[in-house]
Amino acid sequence: MNLSSLGFFRSLRKDNSQFAVIGLGRFGRSVCSTLHKFGYEVLATDIDEKRVSQALTEQITSHALQLDSTESAALKEAGIFEFDTVIVAIGNYVQESIVTTLNVKEGGVPHIVAKASSEVHCKLLHKVGADHVVFPEYEAGCALARTLTKPSILDRFDLDPDNSIVEVIVPDEFHGKTIADLQLRNRYGLNLLAVSQDGKFQINPDPYKRFERGSAMVVIGCNKDINKLPI
Ligand code: ATP
Repeated sequence: MNLSSLGFFRSLRKDNSQFAVIGLGRFGRSVCSTLHKFGYEVLATDIDEKRVSQALTEQITSHALQLDSTESAALKEAGIFEFDTVIVAIGNYVQESIVTTLNVKEGGVPHIVAKASSEVHCKLLHKVGADHVVFPEYEAGCALARTLTKPSILDRFDLDPDNSIVEVIVPDEFHGKTIADLQLRNRYGLNLLAVSQDGKFQINPDPYKRFERGSAMVVIGCNKDINKLPI
């Protein structure tokens, strides 16, 4: 295990956002490189020495260590338990992913994000203490199906399985009508958050503003109500 990075991480102030990524598969590497590009300090780890050196060579992180995350002592020694957020990016090795998540939880890390590769894996990760579980293949499939069937939905943020914030193209039949005319809240159960104008969003728009064909609007509401929009 290369411990040269440890002094640096131990010296970081507590209120800095520090991330540790365990597992350098495609998912872990993309998390690492994006955090690194955004200027965050990331400690990347993997059991495979080659993946660790590759991460350093390709500069997707400035700090990387080889360790077996199923060994709690190795995680402790690497200072992983002192991180604010640990991302367990081991999707294809369910046992290793569960044991690692449990270790990190027992080590007292306040925020654990874990990658699942199946629904059962998802459930197990929650049971052993993951605060947030991502299931990228499933999420990407749902997103693709939505885009194919509802191309007017430009962007979507799922608040929970039943409620979302969506950016949609203003439906044709809304063109020329004011927000007050349409009574989005009464008729559709939706709250309008913003309307686009000349490429910029106007937040909490004036109720007498008229919708224009081709512009975008952002609404919040339950998915059933969002599906009732004539888009
Ligand atoms: P893919 O790369 O196929 O998209 P993924 O990103 O979920 O999938 P995995 O195939 O699950 O990645 O591999 C994640 C990484 O976890 C691998 O580089 C593997 O070496 C590493 N790994 C597996 N077991 C351990 C362990 N016990 N400790 C640390 N790292 C591990």
